[in-house]
Amino acid sequence: MAIDPVCTMEVDEATAKYSAEYRGRTYYFCARGCKKLFERNPEAYVRE
Ligand SMILES: [Zn+2]
Repeated sequence: MAIDPVCTMEVDEATAKYSAEYRGRTYYFCARGCKKLFERNPEAYVRE
């Protein structure tokens, strides 16, 4: 399971509808709203 970086919910990569690439990594989201928030300001959600 992947973790939605926005709301920290678990997301199954196999069935996830919403994903985004950032700096060569793929992130998965539970909903379109979370993806939009992430794309607006990825730095706020990515913990290196
Ligand atoms: Zn979410």
